[in-house]
Amino acid sequence: MVSKRYTTQNSKETRALGTKFAISLKGGEVVCLYGNLGAGKTTFTQGLALGLGIPKNITSPTFILIREYQVNKTLTRNSSTRNSLTHQHITLYHLDCYRLENSTDALSLGLSDLFNNPNNIIVIEWAERIKELLPERRIDIYFENVGDDERKIKIIQN
Ligand code: ADP
Ligand code: MG
Repeated sequence: MVSKRYTTQNSKETRALGTKFAISLKGGEVVCLYGNLGAGKTTFTQGLALGLGIPKNITSPTFILIREYQVNKTLTRNSSTRNSLTHQHITLYHLDCYRLENSTDALSLGLSDLFNNPNNIIVIEWAERIKELLPERRIDIYFENVGDDERKIKIIQN
């Protein structure tokens, strides 16, 4: 387990952290975001999407539950053949589980089918609402509003 802590002073810094974090993504990750309303989960995801070369302005999918975006960047993967750049069609799925009552609702969305696919990157806001479904191998990111514009952000790679 690797754990990193950050403090940001404004939304621009949180967005920049998301963009920097995106560099580490190769495809296949499940990124779980935890924290209260306004803690910065969507802001971080906006930066992450930017880092993946997605030009669209990402908005919170609270009422839609899930949105998908095509990644416009070639991600570096450790392929068994060569340490090469493999051009894959990676899809970013952005979920917001705030309105989900329980994991059963998520199952009906076909969510578990999206996991374990190296061509998907999945970012889940309010991931605690579906904790029974989350894969063990995932990245957990905790957002804490510590007053005014300051946020504490902890990234745990399981
Ligand atoms: P969440 O998705 O966790 O509900 P959002 O990212 O949608 O949160 O909203 C965060 C709100 O807090 C935005 O209005 C943003 O401008 C504001 N904000 C202030 N400071 C920060 C910061 N350091 N990081 C992220 N957002 C911040
Ligand atoms: Mg949000």
